[in-house]
Amino acid sequence: MEAALDAMRTVGNASSTHGPGRDAAHRVDLARRQISDLLNCSPGEIVFTSGATEANNLALRAAFSDGGTLVTSPLEHPAVLETAKALTAGSPASLVLLSVDEDGLVDLDGLHLALATGSVSIVSLMAANNETGVLTDLGPIAKAAHEAGALVHTDATQMVGRLPIDLEATDIDLLSLSAHKFGGPQGVGALFVRRGAPFPYRPLIFGGGQERGWRAGTLNVPGISAAGAAAEAARLGLANEIGRIEQLRNALEATLVEQVVDCRVNGAIGQRLPGVTSITFRGAPADAVLAAMPDVAASEGSACSSGAPTPSHVLLAMGRSREEADATVRFSLGYATTTADIERAAARTIQAVRHVRSAMAAPS
Ligand code: PLP
Repeated sequence: MEAALDAMRTVGNASSTHGPGRDAAHRVDLARRQISDLLNCSPGEIVFTSGATEANNLALRAAFSDGGTLVTSPLEHPAVLETAKALTAGSPASLVLLSVDEDGLVDLDGLHLALATGSVSIVSLMAANNETGVLTDLGPIAKAAHEAGALVHTDATQMVGRLPIDLEATDIDLLSLSAHKFGGPQGVGALFVRRGAPFPYRPLIFGGGQERGWRAGTLNVPGISAAGAAAEAARLGLANEIGRIEQLRNALEATLVEQVVDCRVNGAIGQRLPGVTSITFRGAPADAVLAAMPDVAASEGSACSSGAPTPSHVLLAMGRSREEADATVRFSLGYATTTADIERAAARTIQAVRHVRSAMAAPS
């Protein structure tokens, strides 16, 4: 916040060479370094965007080549799924959606089969799912994809700032992030573009050549400065917070599973983000449960798609029925979440689910 306000007082354009312009450029350089420190990559590999949606669009467009195949999974955020569909619209066979098991893990045999055709130009699999928190083990996926000559993109929007990411140790070519997921402002994101990776040059936005030609347009200096400051804070706080948040999430799940009959935690239990849980309370529609506990900040499915009247495509892909998907609540914990918050959220949820179930059972 301070970084954004401070940057708003400067009037310079980061591309100008006069004093205020140099000041703006200095702020952007600092933020670029702060973001690259969080990812352990080089500052020159960061392209600032308007968010993860734009970063995903840019990544897939840059790496998908006509005549090639794009491999992804039905668990992805619409920013990947819809882009993948649009890019392959002329040839639907060039889109491979890997199957997914009931724990939300993608079918690696299917990936190997697709790679064996030799036609895959890009594999795009999310680092962490936004609804269940399930993590993808990207190391072996990147290795297999590179051996088959394909590029690798990951939508790491949910993972950046919540678990350590080391791009020097992980051989990913493109990674998308969004600042508001780690305490920064909305409307600012970035795409990591690995230096030296063989990308055709295909920007989405052409113009004055900013961001090394990858993303033209005057940079959003206040937003970028605030994103950099948030990245720095996340990097410094990460190590202390992961265990604490995971313990709180586990306590919430344990209480709910013990006290509420017929409920199920979604996603591979040992392979999730620390601060996310997706829980199905069978027979209790989530909209009614949430309405019965307005003071608890939980959501139906993911916050990105809430408001849409369709059931979660993630839960359906994991084999849940429409009723189960509609009866699923997602809780998200952050740096500010305390033990008292979790105890209160658990008590309120137990009450709300019981209330909704008995209202549903009552004769109308
Ligand atoms: N990808 C994932 C996994 C998300 O969770 C979100 C939104 O929360 C997005 C992409 C879109 O990000 P943005 O709102 O920055 O465009």
